[in-house]
Amino acid sequence: MARYDFTTRRLFVEGPLAAAARIDLPPSQAHYLRNVLRLSDGAELLVFNGRDGEWRAALEASGRKQTGLIVHTQTRAQERPGDLHYLFAPLKHARLDYMVQKAVEMGASRLQPVLTRHTQAERLNAGRMQSNVIEAAEQCGILAVPEVAAPLKLEAALAAWPAERLLIFCDEEAPVRDPLLALTAAAQTHAPLAVLVGPEGGFDAGERAALLALPQVMQISLGPRILRADTAAVAVLALVQAALGDWRG
Ligand code: SAH
Repeated sequence: MARYDFTTRRLFVEGPLAAAARIDLPPSQAHYLRNVLRLSDGAELLVFNGRDGEWRAALEASGRKQTGLIVHTQTRAQERPGDLHYLFAPLKHARLDYMVQKAVEMGASRLQPVLTRHTQAERLNAGRMQSNVIEAAEQCGILAVPEVAAPLKLEAALAAWPAERLLIFCDEEAPVRDPLLALTAAAQTHAPLAVLVGPEGGFDAGERAALLALPQVMQISLGPRILRADTAAVAVLALVQAALGDWRG
């Protein structure tokens, strides 16, 4: 595993990163660095923008009215994004924050909220989801920042489903009780992967039938107990990454 620097603070920035580049910080980030972290002039940070890798940068002398960073050396090249789509029925506030952050940490390359019959969350705050994606990337040294897609009704997502992508959906009514057995059976397909975790109320019969009608689909059990959807997210992503994904090195 690459030796990451987890002592230096990491910050997501918008602008292009190159030697001697100057990054103007928005007031929120300037406030965070100056007043929350109390960083002084010249303090070192690691910055990334999702495109140009990771760079060391120094907090610029605060003479100028706007706080900025001066970029100097690249510490890590830009990583290629993975190809693991994570579909989920939105949850309420803190549980959704948690689930979004864990999906990013576990290697999801795309987050697709899907609205199912029993989905409880009324309105989805895309900005809040994006902030959680960035926060997880900053804390875990993830350079390929996952995209957050606009919410889709489940039937619309399935109607547009690419035939080559295997959809692994978590279903407490799955007939095969052993998820590893089910997953390793798919190891030879080398299909691009997607994972779906349902709402706290589970999938209804029509949704289950529509899912099972996909050309490449797998219904997996996550054991004999009912897990909360945010717990299921971590469980299934660990299983999928270990059996089929990038945890295999
Ligand atoms: N219908 C139950 C389950 C909902 S749990 C209820 O109303 O409590 C939320 C989601 O987590 C489910 O839709 C499913 O995708 C997943 N999940 C939870 N426990 C699971 C299990 N034991 N096996 C497979 N999936 C599970």
